[in-house]
Amino acid sequence: MIITSTELYKAARSKNFAFPAANYVDPLSASAHVEVAEELNLPLILAFAQVHQKYLDYDEAIEIGNYYARKAKVPVVLHLDHGVDREFIFKAIDSGFSSVMIDASSESLDENIRRTKEIVKYAHLRGVTVEAEIGHVGEGSQYEGKDSSNNIYTTVEEADIFTKETEVDSLAVSIGTAHGAYKGVPVIDFQRLAELRAAIDTPLVLHGGSSSGDENLHRCATGGISKINIYTDFVLGAYNKLKDSNCQDYFQARQAMKDGMKECLKHYYKLFDTEKYKA
Ligand SMILES: [Zn+2]
Repeated sequence: MIITSTELYKAARSKNFAFPAANYVDPLSASAHVEVAEELNLPLILAFAQVHQKYLDYDEAIEIGNYYARKAKVPVVLHLDHGVDREFIFKAIDSGFSSVMIDASSESLDENIRRTKEIVKYAHLRGVTVEAEIGHVGEGSQYEGKDSSNNIYTTVEEADIFTKETEVDSLAVSIGTAHGAYKGVPVIDFQRLAELRAAIDTPLVLHGGSSSGDENLHRCATGGISKINIYTDFVLGAYNKLKDSNCQDYFQARQAMKDGMKECLKHYYKLFDTEKYKA
């Protein structure tokens, strides 16, 4: 069953837990996601990122996402991660995605607002929820600590203007994490997170959760973040499991990778207290 993010983030925000989200890049990763959510009897955010077209053709991604989301026995948010082009995002909305992200965070605040509003208007008319980002979550490979990265931290003032102007359904904030794996250890600005949580009614989400440290992520999940993206750890889980296995053929290799992805996702469901959803 496909649902929007609204009810999930509302529950996460009020009960202080988060949902983990990873991107699928093929049927194996999509099915690993769904199996974990079904085993835990919890909802799932099944996401495809525009940049992953290099691994999976967009039309194929839409078919795979719709197939697994519809047949899942738990509610699924079929989400487009990091949508950049307007046409691409509109197509996702028209093709069954229930949630889309517009990432114009590298633009000026005014331009980010303008582009986001356009997507919100189109999406809301069709019952689809929208995530946007302000401040900028940079790349972990360029991360060497809070003051020497290409991150731009989200300010309360900008978040307030942005959410009121755009009416987005969730807001990705930059508080110290970065995309991919890190060079250094991330320093999360928990003070900023607490201020944002107190001032902004819109649910907050976090990108760049991978390799940020379990303690950091648990604090984020219970301190005001409603969704945490952990894609890099998810695919790393597959690779590490394969490397450590004694698989003898393609099918065993595939199973090892699936097991690795499932273990990673289960770990994060537990760490983020997602179980509280049922309470
Ligand atoms: Zn991201």
